[in-house]
Amino acid sequence: MAIDTASAKQSLIDERQRLVHQLEELGATESGDLRADVDYGDGFADAGAATAERTERLGLAETLKAQLDAVDAALARIEEGNYGVCASCGTEIPAARLEARPASILCVDCKTRH
Ligand SMILES: [Zn+2]
Repeated sequence: MAIDTASAKQSLIDERQRLVHQLEELGATESGDLRADVDYGDGFADAGAATAERTERLGLAETLKAQLDAVDAALARIEEGNYGVCASCGTEIPAARLEARPASILCVDCKTRH
């Protein structure tokens, strides 16, 4: 089955928008940093709770940023014309895997080895 890059690209763009939106809601930028203008002191009884909240948000932002990077890497591979081919070993990635996870740039073997 040939890989439908047009629909993969659309899924990736949708995913990208979703991730950027989640980062915004978190008060973070697209680079995964928390925006300086967000006040984390609000509603917290003490500075410790505010710090804990900030740490949790940073962790979430980092996770979202990693997902965003994966989406961008996959989009770049579509542009380069090598989407669907493992970035590590060059094997074709099964279409079913790409459908389930459009941001995959590694085959299952390489992914589990990393
Ligand atoms: Zn591979």
